[in-house]
Amino acid sequence: MRAHPAGPLHADVVSDHAAVARPTSAEELNRLSPAVWPSSARRNSEGAIEIGGVDVRDAAAEFGTPLFVFDEDDLRARARNYREAYVGVGARLVYYAAKAFLTTAVARIVTDEGLGVDVASGGELAVALRAGVPGERILMHGNNKSMAEIEAAVEAGVGRIVVDSFDDVVRIADAAARAGVVQSVLVRVTVGVEAHTHEFIATAHEDQKFGLSVSSGAAEEAVRRIAKLPSLDLRGLHSHIGSQIFDAAGFEVAAARVVSVAQRIWDEQGIEVEELNLGGGMGIAYLESDDPLDVVDMAAQIGDIVGKQCAAEGIPMPALAFEPGRAIVGPAAVTVYEVGTVKPVELDRGLVRTYVSVDGGMSDNIRTALYDAEYSVVLASRESSADPTLCRVVGKHCESGDIVVRDAWLPGDLAAGDLLAVAATGAYCRSMASNYNYLPRPAVVAARDGQTTVFLRRETLDDLLRLDPGA
Ligand SMILES: *Cc1c(COP(=O)(O)O)cnc(C)c1O
Repeated sequence: MRAHPAGPLHADVVSDHAAVARPTSAEELNRLSPAVWPSSARRNSEGAIEIGGVDVRDAAAEFGTPLFVFDEDDLRARARNYREAYVGVGARLVYYAAKAFLTTAVARIVTDEGLGVDVASGGELAVALRAGVPGERILMHGNNKSMAEIEAAVEAGVGRIVVDSFDDVVRIADAAARAGVVQSVLVRVTVGVEAHTHEFIATAHEDQKFGLSVSSGAAEEAVRRIAKLPSLDLRGLHSHIGSQIFDAAGFEVAAARVVSVAQRIWDEQGIEVEELNLGGGMGIAYLESDDPLDVVDMAAQIGDIVGKQCAAEGIPMPALAFEPGRAIVGPAAVTVYEVGTVKPVELDRGLVRTYVSVDGGMSDNIRTALYDAEYSVVLASRESSADPTLCRVVGKHCESGDIVVRDAWLPGDLAAGDLLAVAATGAYCRSMASNYNYLPRPAVVAARDGQTTVFLRRETLDDLLRLDPGA
């Protein structure tokens, strides 16, 4: 991650500092790299992008912009591939992490493909239940679950609730006892590993809000307390080390620490850890240069790592579980925006940066502002043979940090009315959307075989005004 905004202030460092190298030709600008675009994305005979056989110009005309377009077959294939890969290395269940993006259609698609659903609030739980996801395939997370959320989860018969604090132990036990059921739980342990992309940091202790730490003995103490409560059934341990992880190195350190906790729990408390949920965080390509490990290889390496750690500690291999979110939905969708203004801004030494303003921005994609995230963007409504120009794609909000793509090479003839498509926006974009500046949140549609279905309709101004009793 870059520490300071990239972008050329000096001509001689343009290609060094721009996130993406200058394309060598106009054709390269029109190309859709299979590494970042959904599998059905292609340009049709008129040069416009099609997703799932749907021309983005038609989708934009019908549903308006900004618009999220999912490639439904791509989404299904990702869900299926994750399930097969991880079940193949001993996973009992692969849960889709709903926070990445959830609608009833998404919940139905992932459960159709054999996944469970990981929810982190009463709202996400309600959507999953409304979609008909069976309770036993749902897992609930949260570092501050309300009593009402816990009761709703217990009542729905969710398969696992993940204990994140000592307060959780008492509250979940109470809710289960009052409902007259025994609730299966996992204890979320923090193992001092934080992983992002190529780097991970391993420390002896933890300074964060999630889970119960291994180093302080809190995780083992939670197990001890759970074992005494007849309304709780401890099924195993949980560890989630981060997001957008490209290789198995961070999982290796985390698995070693979790497995040694499991061994101590067996040794000191005589409790067998039957299940080990290693969370999500599998990374995706936002840029062509991103190179995450292939799903099958990642699964094989993680399975192998856990097997070896268990053998080394002399404990039986637990059933595994995983919770990928981004990797299921992220690459399956694109955002289509309409260009409103194109403004060349003179920098020092006679240099120019072209600001391309689109009709959304930080309200539909906060990741660039929040995480310095990088994206691939192309002209979507036509092809162009104009020379590449280094642009900054920005939104329409009242913030100078309202940036969608910090450095993007786009055709020099880009003009108002053109459509742009940003790749890999299926995860953490619509789910983190806001109404900043009273922008109604965009629609989400799925395309397949030339047909669209609506996942979420566009919000209207009336939807927003309805909340204001004085309006
Ligand atoms: C966010 C999260 C996930 C999913 O992470 P991705 O990076 O989207 O795969 C899974 N489990 C937990 C506990 C999380 O917080």
